[in-house]
Amino acid sequence: MNIELSKKLLDQLIKLSGTVSDKLGRRVTLMEVCGTHTTAISKSGLRGLLSPYMELLSGPGCPVCVTDQTDIDRMIAFARLPGVVIASFGDMIRVPGTYTSLEVERARGAGIEICYSPHEALSYAAQHIDKESVFLGVGFETTAPAVALSVMEAKALGIKNYSVLSVHKLVPPAMKALLADPELNVDGFILPGHVSVITGRKTFDFIASEYGIPAVITGFETVDIMEAIALLLKQIVDKKAQTINGYTRLVSEEGNIRAKKAIEEIFEPQDALWRGFGLIPESGLVFKKAYADFDAAARFYVEVPNALPPEGCSCGEVLKGKIKPGQCPLFSIVCTPSDPIGPCMVSSEGACAAYFNYGDE
Ligand code: SF4
Repeated sequence: MNIELSKKLLDQLIKLSGTVSDKLGRRVTLMEVCGTHTTAISKSGLRGLLSPYMELLSGPGCPVCVTDQTDIDRMIAFARLPGVVIASFGDMIRVPGTYTSLEVERARGAGIEICYSPHEALSYAAQHIDKESVFLGVGFETTAPAVALSVMEAKALGIKNYSVLSVHKLVPPAMKALLADPELNVDGFILPGHVSVITGRKTFDFIASEYGIPAVITGFETVDIMEAIALLLKQIVDKKAQTINGYTRLVSEEGNIRAKKAIEEIFEPQDALWRGFGLIPESGLVFKKAYADFDAAARFYVEVPNALPPEGCSCGEVLKGKIKPGQCPLFSIVCTPSDPIGPCMVSSEGACAAYFNYGDE
């Protein structure tokens, strides 16, 4: 899209935001439920530009950030097992655990390999048959299909030294946990485009139909996000609530059936701990019994210390949209991307990192 057209859209959005805010007699509050949206909104400057009329809150949409402290400590305990090499996405290793981090353990000699896909982790396992390779399965519906396929491939190829520590999370149960909070004060949701590619639009219908809150699925270009906000504003002012698919170029009603089948073949839902939320019913993915040989949690025993979140860190409140990153007393004073205290400042999709990097308040 050319700059002139983008500017015209932005002007129209600012005007619409002002009109809706005037009609309501207050600012509108929207929540983006995706870390990639959080970063895109901060980077584009939309959060600041629309702030006279609108609060754009961040939600539980960064998989590294929502991983509970107990699970971080469990990963670190795995890294200390003799003969085990941890394969992980890069962000994860910098997240502080209760006493140490994967990064610190790597400096002390633990086997920790950064990888960019589960397939790469599987290749590492195939090339190092003298070691047990444990992939850290961190992510939402978007990541789980590729992990499931890597397990199927490991089985088909007879690779026996590959396993996955599954801490995958599911977004719809987290939305239900958010919506069940009587203090939630959100007029509309910007829903994650890439998760919806897998789940399909229908999965998120309950937000509008059961809770009466409008929601729009959208992509990650600034223009996608502007269009989503406009669609939300129109619903809010018309007192309507629908879950609209604003990302039809990639998201269908039913989602990606093959990807969903791959997840269902390997995993099943189970209650899971989320940072800030505690236990959310049926919100995690664990291995089915038939694939227990690839389940690191079943194959290895580790002692996990009593987990304590980083002292003074408010990531849990940030993830629930209760506060903005700048309201954490540690933000930018002692907690920065180069010296993070909590995961929301570590991850490239974390709200604290986005606000810090792009100067949002
Ligand atoms: S600024 Fe740092 S300490 Fe505060 S909530 Fe964010 S990550 Fe946690």
